[in-house]
Amino acid sequence: MATLLFLPSFVLSFRRPPVKIINLACTISRHYTYTQVICTNLSIYIFSEEQYMYDLVVLGGGSGGLAAAKQAAELGARVAVFDYVTPSPKGTKWGLGGTCVNVGCIPKKLMHQAALLGEAVHEAAAFGWVIPDIKSVQINWEALSVAVQNHIKSVNWVTRVDLKNKKVEYINALGYFKDPHTIGGIMKNGEENVVTAKNILIAVGGRPKYPDIPGAIENGITSDDIFSLSQPPGKTLIVGAGYIGLECAGFLNGLGYNTTVMVRSIILRGFDQQMANIIAEEMEQRGVHFIYQAKPKLIKKEADGILVHWVDKLGQVQKDVYDTVLFAIGRRALTKDLKLENAGVICIPDDDKIDAVDEQTNVPHIYAVGDILHKKPELTPVAIHAGKLLSKRLFANSSETMDYTNIATTVFSPLEYGCVGLSEEQANIIYGEDNIEIYHAYYKPTEFFIPQKDNSHCYLKVVTLRNNDQKVIGMHFIGPNAGEVIQGFATAIKSNLTFPILKSTVGIHPTSAEELIRVFITKRSKMDPKPQSCCS
Ligand code: FAD
Ligand code: NAP
Repeated sequence: MATLLFLPSFVLSFRRPPVKIINLACTISRHYTYTQVICTNLSIYIFSEEQYMYDLVVLGGGSGGLAAAKQAAELGARVAVFDYVTPSPKGTKWGLGGTCVNVGCIPKKLMHQAALLGEAVHEAAAFGWVIPDIKSVQINWEALSVAVQNHIKSVNWVTRVDLKNKKVEYINALGYFKDPHTIGGIMKNGEENVVTAKNILIAVGGRPKYPDIPGAIENGITSDDIFSLSQPPGKTLIVGAGYIGLECAGFLNGLGYNTTVMVRSIILRGFDQQMANIIAEEMEQRGVHFIYQAKPKLIKKEADGILVHWVDKLGQVQKDVYDTVLFAIGRRALTKDLKLENAGVICIPDDDKIDAVDEQTNVPHIYAVGDILHKKPELTPVAIHAGKLLSKRLFANSSETMDYTNIATTVFSPLEYGCVGLSEEQANIIYGEDNIEIYHAYYKPTEFFIPQKDNSHCYLKVVTLRNNDQKVIGMHFIGPNAGEVIQGFATAIKSNLTFPILKSTVGIHPTSAEELIRVFITKRSKMDPKPQSCCS
């Protein structure tokens, strides 16, 4: 005899405010086939587990989606991934792998490296390298761009092969919800591919925003276009002073292009502002121009380039002509195309992102990871880690959840800035100025001595509590290879690093990382944090 069990929505969705969805579970046969009845505000759907084509369908083949899909398949789940790249307004498109691989971390790091090598060539003579005609050393943009794009294409290929080997079905189609368990995917030829899944993961990430000013979309580009630009960018204006703005400005200036950053308010919002301002000072010293407290007003194509009008801090309209205008003003979440209303998934109206608890949306079998999540760091390792943990919870009875605190990150400015934990400002707000101790130091990297490189911006900061065993709650480092330096300290902070433990650690000499262990001057003492010795 079939048993019928109805669980009203508030039982299943008790951790949520009331939503436009009712979830009912029914046991209807001797084989305990699980049947779900979902009522959105539009329709009622009845699903039986046996009818689903997949255990997991992932929308978005980027960092988070692919990590979750591969992990789930390794655990025996039947998995499909929809990935589709809508071309940028300039017509740029790319292959499988998402933002990081195609138009993010990877091409950015390679171009950063190209710029650092240019710097190294100029320093090499001081180390004894005989460089015949140093003045003629210059970048060949086309060669750089082709090399970067070739690497990306190889990663796209390896990613496809990897999915095939792991038996994850890749569907090159723009996916959307037809109902809570059914995904339709519009393919390039306009045909629709329809699949059903027990669980669905939204991992569609975001795309760069354009400002709402005349000529922005027609005449500007974004990070979606810069890495594959067929012509050298030339004199470039970058609007926005976040991660992307500073990183692009850093490598373009390093490659020899006249580069200006237009800053609306502050540099690197959300980061420790003392560190952010040191980064800007350092970039300015290298030749990057900064226009502070300015907003673009109009972008117009003219015979001699792209004319930009902006409003300066006094409210006056200023203008200049550039070869390239790059907008780096943040990214918009790609939820609009998903027809989330057909599944009852709720979005935060302010930023179109999804609010999820442990990556679970307000609809219990629909999950979200990566850049699409509201108020979570937009970083590749965050998306990957959350995606893998989710699949382990879904298909391997794991209970481990993602910890979004103490995520380390690095701004790949010419002199890099890596950090983990709280900024000085955040620590002051959370714990109160009297309860925190800031240790800081300027230092001289050994490799800066021979070319007599300016080291006045090599600075670090350790934020600790004054009681509670002097727990370390933030570490900040500006210097060469900051990402490599801060990664290990992130593990230490996760393991409850205290200042006494930091001080009892033996350093590796001669490295820049050991400076974080040598630090002893507190800001409170007002002692000079400049290096004591000239050459050790
Ligand atoms: P994505 O990687 O964006 O993947 C989403 C995929 O879904 C895309 O392929 C998209 O085309 C596809 N898609 C969208 N809608 C649909 C749909 N309806 N159907 C099917 N497919 C769809 N992070 C770092 O950690 N370190 C860095 O150095 C770094 N540098 C960056 C530099 C730049 C210039 C940029 C833009 C980002 C950078 N990031 C960096 C951030 C990082 O790229 C993102 O955090 C990461 O890619 C997010 O992964 P995701 O899986 O959420 O989304
Ligand atoms: P972002 O860090 O949010 O910075 C956006 C910048 O644009 C801010 O300076 C902001 O100024 C400015 N801005 C916003 N709207 C504007 C407008 N209408 N006109 C002029 N300026 C405007 O965004 P992003 O640099 O585009 O990067 C997006 C995300 O990608 C980041 O959050 C990051 O997580 C990820 N990312 C990571 C890395 C890395 O790990 N190294 C590198 C690149 C990107 P205000 O401060 O005034 O708002």
